[in-house]
Amino acid sequence: MNPSRTVAFHTFGCKVNQYETEELRAQLRLGGFRVVPLGTTADVNVINSCSVTAGADSSCRQLVRKLLREQPASRVVVTGCYAQRAPEELREVSGRVEVFGNREKPFIAIALGVPTACVQEAAKSGVVALAERTRVYLKVQDGCDAHCTYCIIPSVRPERVCRDPEAVLREAEQFLTRGFKEIVLTGVRLGCYQYGPAWDLARLCKALVELPGDFRVRLSSVEVTEISDALVALMQENPKLCPHFHIPMQSGDNDVLKRMGRWYTADQYRARVRDIKSQIPEIALSADVIVGFPGESDKQFENSARLLEEEGFSRLHVFRYSVRPGTPAERLRAHVDPRIKSARARNLVKLDGTLRARYAVGFLNRRLRVLQEAGGIGYTERYVRVRASQALPEGAFQQVRPTRLAADGVLVAESIG
Ligand code: SF4
Repeated sequence: MNPSRTVAFHTFGCKVNQYETEELRAQLRLGGFRVVPLGTTADVNVINSCSVTAGADSSCRQLVRKLLREQPASRVVVTGCYAQRAPEELREVSGRVEVFGNREKPFIAIALGVPTACVQEAAKSGVVALAERTRVYLKVQDGCDAHCTYCIIPSVRPERVCRDPEAVLREAEQFLTRGFKEIVLTGVRLGCYQYGPAWDLARLCKALVELPGDFRVRLSSVEVTEISDALVALMQENPKLCPHFHIPMQSGDNDVLKRMGRWYTADQYRARVRDIKSQIPEIALSADVIVGFPGESDKQFENSARLLEEEGFSRLHVFRYSVRPGTPAERLRAHVDPRIKSARARNLVKLDGTLRARYAVGFLNRRLRVLQEAGGIGYTERYVRVRASQALPEGAFQQVRPTRLAADGVLVAESIG
């Protein structure tokens, strides 16, 4: 093993990918690698790819070409969902590209010369080297076997696997010991978390918030039909579980939802959202929405926009539909003109700005608790961004009182202790 070897990482896509990059980073560090920023000439460059859109594939290929060109002596490793879905496309870019699908991720460190003992040691101690200092992702579940017709994930991560709660709790304790103040639970299908008959997501969250210390737990994305009453009740009663649900909607039109292979109607989605809001007033609700799904008419698009506006979401993640080779939606007719897709996306991005501002001003002149992050910005438990008069170190909590909403959508606040 050469202790002076260097490695740089780049991660595309979701929080699960980010977590898995950190796992690999921990293994390589233990194996003697020094981690350097991407762009620095490194012995090895590792790209953890995403394949959720055609844009994600193309961004990955661009980065691969750039690294091959700028670092002719570097090894370029590509893993993740794009590597799993289309390994040949990546190998065609150059024979220098080393491709590892998701199932082969555990072998990357060994292929790079890290002793097996180091890989096992990293697995035992969990992810310990993280890029951010305040917020950390904790993966508890992987894989999805649903049949959303636009989605590539069931073909690249088909097995639903949930982690042992004891291992999750141990890892959370390590994060807290290291000073992290916010743990974000992630999973491809987080709401499906089930370990044995007793451990569902609500029970796991309860065990996590009962760990001692001043910290908070946030959920990443949970499907609307997988938010249990017990989870809502826990969120209502325990302030350590952030009052924030990110609930993928994808469309607010029944016909489009059906063609997407989603298993709920717009009315069911709306009813559950209202029910949650009635139990936890001012809860932050964010949603994913896809525009330009094949056959989506103007009226169907408007149904989505109306539902999002009427239910008072606090932020939106807007995606333009793009064909994923091998998915059932690829064979659907009436693909939407790209210019119409772009116009609809712009429309919803504008709505997102309006909704964020509307939600944030509701907290003006109120006492809020903020966790300081990088760049002088802090976040409340409802994920509202705040710039406080006193910039504390990253990872510190402080009480603030916002006095105005700035043009960049951040609340400007006085620090009050
Ligand atoms: S629920 Fe649907 S969109 Fe989400 S990962 Fe599974 S197949 Fe993809």
